[in-house]
Amino acid sequence: MDSFQFSRPTTVDHAVQLGATSATAQQSAEVRFVAGGTTLIDLMKLNVERPKQVVDINALPLSMIEATPNGGLIIGALARNSDVAQHPLVQRNYPVLSQALLSGASPQLRNMATTGGNLLQRTRCVYFRDTAHACNKREPGTGCSAIDGHNRMLAILGTSKDCIATNPSDQNVALTALEATIQVQGTKGKRSIPIQDFYLLPGSTPERETVLEPGDVVLSVTLPPPAAGARSHYLKLRDRAAYEFALTSAAVVLKVNGSRIEHVRIALGGVGTRPWRSVEAERVLQGHTADAATFRRAAEEALKDARPASENGFKVELAKRCIVRALTMSMKTA
Ligand SMILES: Cc1cc2nc3c(=O)[nH]c(=O)nc-3n(C[C@H](O)[C@H](O)[C@H](O)COP(=O)(O)OP(=O)(O)OC[C@H]3O[C@@H](n4cnc5c(N)ncnc54)[C@H](O)[C@@H]3O)c2cc1C
Ligand code: SF4
Repeated sequence: MDSFQFSRPTTVDHAVQLGATSATAQQSAEVRFVAGGTTLIDLMKLNVERPKQVVDINALPLSMIEATPNGGLIIGALARNSDVAQHPLVQRNYPVLSQALLSGASPQLRNMATTGGNLLQRTRCVYFRDTAHACNKREPGTGCSAIDGHNRMLAILGTSKDCIATNPSDQNVALTALEATIQVQGTKGKRSIPIQDFYLLPGSTPERETVLEPGDVVLSVTLPPPAAGARSHYLKLRDRAAYEFALTSAAVVLKVNGSRIEHVRIALGGVGTRPWRSVEAERVLQGHTADAATFRRAAEEALKDARPASENGFKVELAKRCIVRALTMSMKTA
């Protein structure tokens, strides 16, 4: 690991000022914020991240988990994943988020990992994490070792000829189905970004993963009030039952009146280059009968643009079954 300067600001303004001295907030940033450190420190030890300055943001007042006046929820960027997962308001109103968080990593990691850090965790593509291999995301223009290499875990939706890496987060899939908004403070003040607009597709610039600019500090995530009468479920399919990233996952929010679907949101994990909202599947479901045939039609629609690589073709059918199963399970929740 290279040597670096270390600072611990006590105000968001100061953190923004320190972050703004970096030329980029994306790969190769010279300044990095550290929260729980469970992504950043690993990548620094691997020489994948080589910031000249590390800014510890843990002294900032961003740990809240509170109801908002409109009946929604605000989660501070420094709220730990375990605190969010166990919070009564989350368990009661947004069980899909609690389930997603509890399906990730290990209890020890969740005690450290934060909401903001989880939003910005990096891909687990093995070539990204190993500097001996070419990787367009780590070093633009060097090539993608995964496309003709080991790509079993990688994406089938939203890929490009330059990168097929997945966004590995469980939290972000649930936040996408819940239509979260992310509050950010940067050099030009505060702004709110719908999660749907927060992540970028890789295209020809896979090193750019989000819309964040130098100095931007994630302050919080807000959730709209839960849809009255809606149920939700997170289903994660993986190689082993714990401590493993998703091969595919589905977060669903579903409200059924009689047998008619009145409200539905679907997001997928483990298959997309960003947390993957499927408006196509939602369109098939909205207003139709909640039964196995409709669920399967929605799943087919969600995966119709899938472009598998050499080792991950199995994800297409697995993701379809995951969607059908998650929808079915959500009908059974209390
Ligand atoms: C062994 C292992 C297994 C794991 N398994 C899973 C899993 O199954 N599912 C899953 O979803 N995740 C998993 N994870 C990933 C884990 O969830 C993330 O590492 C964690 O959420 C990152 O949060 P953090 O606070 O530690 O981030 P940090 O490492 O502190 O930061 C991560 C990135 O976010 C930036 N950042 C952090 N906070 C802010 C902020 N407020 N504003 C701007 N930038 C910020 C940092 O600069 C850094 O670039 C696993 C991790 C490990 C090590
Ligand atoms: S898939 Fe993306 S992250 Fe993985 S080697 Fe290719 S460019 Fe790098």
